[in-house]
Amino acid sequence: MADVFNGQTLAALPGDRAVGHVRYATCGASDIVNVQPLSFNIRGGMVALAHNGNLVNAEELRTELEDRGAIFHGSSDTEVVGHLLALESRGPIEERIAAALRRVRGAYSLLFLTPDKLIGVRDPHGFRPLVIGKVRDAYVMCSETTALDLIEAEYLCEVEPGEMVVLDTDGLHRSRFAESPRGGRCVFEHIYFARPDSLLFGQSVYDVRKRLGRELGAEHPVEADVVIPVPDSGVPAALGFAERTGIPYDMGLVRSHYVGRTFIEPQQSIRHFGVKLKLNVVREALRGKRVVVVDDSLVRGTTSRKIVKMIRAAGAREVHVRISSPPTLFPCYYGIDTPTRQELIASSHTLEEIVRYVTADSLGYLSLDGVYRAVAQERQGYCDACFSGDYLVALPGGQASTRAGGAERANLRVLG
Ligand code: AMP
Repeated sequence: MADVFNGQTLAALPGDRAVGHVRYATCGASDIVNVQPLSFNIRGGMVALAHNGNLVNAEELRTELEDRGAIFHGSSDTEVVGHLLALESRGPIEERIAAALRRVRGAYSLLFLTPDKLIGVRDPHGFRPLVIGKVRDAYVMCSETTALDLIEAEYLCEVEPGEMVVLDTDGLHRSRFAESPRGGRCVFEHIYFARPDSLLFGQSVYDVRKRLGRELGAEHPVEADVVIPVPDSGVPAALGFAERTGIPYDMGLVRSHYVGRTFIEPQQSIRHFGVKLKLNVVREALRGKRVVVVDDSLVRGTTSRKIVKMIRAAGAREVHVRISSPPTLFPCYYGIDTPTRQELIASSHTLEEIVRYVTADSLGYLSLDGVYRAVAQERQGYCDACFSGDYLVALPGGQASTRAGGAERANLRVLG
């Protein structure tokens, strides 16, 4: 954002409302034509659209729309929403949006900006967050409450799953546009994705992550001298782990803040090097020690493997890896960028093999029950498909729940 907008460009923008989004491509190419917000000139005026999530039937809809003559500019799933909206040419914009959304399936927290309204909708499962805030006499909608803190807005509440919120000159109007069958809030937002300084689904992300660490400490204690986090995402869980086990917490790894996310690098070789660029050891905190290193998730195993090697090279006597989530066994189709099953190390390797791969003395994953104890919510309200294979919205081709396979591997616990 800061690379694109400076004071001068912002001052030149007319109007009294705005919509923006930083979306990394979980669907479609990382191309300028897919940059959000997307804007469409439809009957009745311009609409700008920002989308957090991922639509699972975008491909099908795109083919159908193209068969009817639609011309797509990019490859983003979000673009189908614009075309569907264009087809609903009559009635108030709220009804047109509701009609268009009846066709789409998957995860969507959407903001539509029209010449006189800002409209927020959250899909019936509520996979991704969307909240409402207030600053003086103006309302704001955003995914994470940290955005509210930035502009000193007050957090009001979540947009509910299946809800449409309209902001216009008369204020704020709430209504339901779809029934909510079963909650599907993304549990991985608590574990990794959301910022720790956000309120997510009504709870402090930081508090939940600390509790994840405490549960992990209870499930997988180990004799050790020091607990260190993989910064930054592993910090709250490591604090909770240290608190629960009584092992001192220390900063054994330091993160460079000048390097982007290694996870989304397309090439494995760059990802490997990226970990080194991003993290370095503090030898004084590690030398001669039995070290527990806590991270939030283990996906391909790249990060853990590199880190364990670095910690050993710094003189640690033992390295025990603890992960504050269950094994990632299944891809996410609802907006988190996870690789294919083949690349997910836990879906094709036993715990012994993973321990050997990351070269740890032991490895322990938090159980799914432990996750929900930390989240302090019923599993019913959540989506945990990445761990369980329990997909709440069927994929095209009718992929059924793969729960049995998930449960079997999710028994992976600790091995030394
Ligand atoms: P890996 O190195 O592939 O095992 O990935 C695990 C690391 O990537 C952990 O340190 C996580 O904090 C981070 N991570 C997990 N999921 C994601 C994601 N969807 N996007 C970016 N980073 C992630």
